Amino acid sequence: MRQQRLAVVSGGGTGIGKAIAAQLAADGRRVVVLGRRAEVLEQARASIDRAVGAPSVVPVPVDLTDAQQVGEAAAVIAELGPVDVLVNNAGAVITAPADETLAALADAWRRDLDTNLLTAVLLTTALQERLRRPGGRLIMISSAAAQRGGAGAHSAGSYAAAKAALHGWAFGLARALGPDGITVNVLAPGYIEDTEIFGDRWSERFHAEKVADTLVGRAGTPADVAAAVGYLASPAAGYLTGQVIGLNGGAVLGR
Ligand code: NDP
Repeated sequence: MRQQRLAVVSGGGTGIGKAIAAQLAADGRRVVVLGRRAEVLEQARASIDRAVGAPSVVPVPVDLTDAQQVGEAAAVIAELGPVDVLVNNAGAVITAPADETLAALADAWRRDLDTNLLTAVLLTTALQERLRRPGGRLIMISSAAAQRGGAGAHSAGSYAAAKAALHGWAFGLARALGPDGITVNVLAPGYIEDTEIFGDRWSERFHAEKVADTLVGRAGTPADVAAAVGYLASPAAGYLTGQVIGLNGGAVLGR
């Protein structure tokens, strides 16, 4: 019997990551979901397994900013076989205090870089030798903020900068891994509703402003992102590598 294909989704317990995990499981893969909260991962496992109708999800609790924990999680994943698809989706907007001192600013920038960049760098490096050759798929979840700046004055640009750093790093990986038959792409979503990322910064007004930014007059959904990842992860996408793909309802044009 052919071995079941394996996907790994960071931040797979909530929002966009959970929808990606559900899509990859529905497409017949075993899916490892990573995040810090074990109970949230367990809830995602239960609901995705129920929807798929078979045990598909393997929760592995881990703080992906911690090198030692990432190494331990990678050892658990290595037991499951080669990794066909790795989706670096974990991330968060770190908000610096409004009356920030330089020390507070430095702390917020470091945490934004740790959460949105280092998580992906550590996990990818730990699993790089485990990626299937040929045919592996590496997908980074960036943000439209990387293309146009953003997340407002509160974050002092550190979120946009951290996400943009993923792009240059991904281009180098695409070059290095292309000869092994592995594709590397960046997906940059615009506003996606129904996730935990905005927390108490979300309001009806915030939502309306984000929707007004689009050409299609609606918010994106986690399922929109999952459908795009489903394609990028598929054998049909083998000629697509080294790209930044915008998924934003037209809020950013041509990039
Ligand atoms: P969520 O807050 O719902 O998801 C973020 C996930 O990342 C959570 O499951 C969280 O789990 C996990 N995570 C955060 N930090 C760590 C860490 N240190 N170690 C392990 N896991 C971590 O928000 P979204 O679904 O919206 O965000 C998913 C991705 O999409 C993010 O990278 C975000 O920047 C990006 N994005 C979102 C957009 C939107 O409008 N929603 C737009 C553009 C990009 P836990 O807390 O349990 O660790």
